[in-house]
Amino acid sequence: MGTVVDAANKEANGSSSGKKFAVVFVLGGPGSGKGTQCANIVQQYGYTHLSAGDLLRAELNSGSENGTMIQNMIKEGKIVPSEVTVKLLQKAMEESGNDKFLIDGFPRNEENRAAFEAVTGIEPQFVLFFDCPEEEMEKRLLGRNLGREDDNIETIRKRFKVFLESSLPVVQYYENKGKVRKIDAAKPVEEVFVAVKAVFAPINVEVKGLCC
Ligand code: UDP
Ligand code: MG
Repeated sequence: MGTVVDAANKEANGSSSGKKFAVVFVLGGPGSGKGTQCANIVQQYGYTHLSAGDLLRAELNSGSENGTMIQNMIKEGKIVPSEVTVKLLQKAMEESGNDKFLIDGFPRNEENRAAFEAVTGIEPQFVLFFDCPEEEMEKRLLGRNLGREDDNIETIRKRFKVFLESSLPVVQYYENKGKVRKIDAAKPVEEVFVAVKAVFAPINVEVKGLCC
């Protein structure tokens, strides 16, 4: 669908390498375990993990002209304009040398979703959705102390609100397309990974045979 337009978009945005990328969007509230489980998936199935939040933090630390804007958005738990995030994701994909990606914490709203699709022409294979109650996520975020400026109760509450209002509708959009694989993320890490493996194993038979 829309291949001519997609090709034109790719040309215009400098991603015309012709390489076909497989993308899984990994969504879930803040503290639902996206980053932790993505690390496990990378180990086992050879995807490249791209955390949109990490890319934005790296961008702001690099002294980019957008740095102050990004910092303010993150501090307020708001969503950075798609133009910035999509560009960072696209660059990271092209530079990775890999062709399969876990895109973690993105798309966070309808604007993100539409922009990514329009610019890259990529539709996700599926959406891995970590479903976790807010109390559990709050406990994890307050306990993890990664020194992140947004892991304080005030910003956490704002992030929950943005997740409910802006990000869950994206999950719903993909749910309507039959693309959501929902995981009960309130359990211990190992148990959650058992459920995650059940999603990835059938479609990744040929990748990275791990011995143990
Ligand atoms: N963020 C954003 N767009 C994205 C991803 C992240 O604007 O596509 C910003 C947003 O302010 C968010 C913050 O970065 O609250 C932290 O995101 P991250 O995914 O690192 O948080 P997590 O959900 O993993 O706790
Ligand atoms: Mg994260």
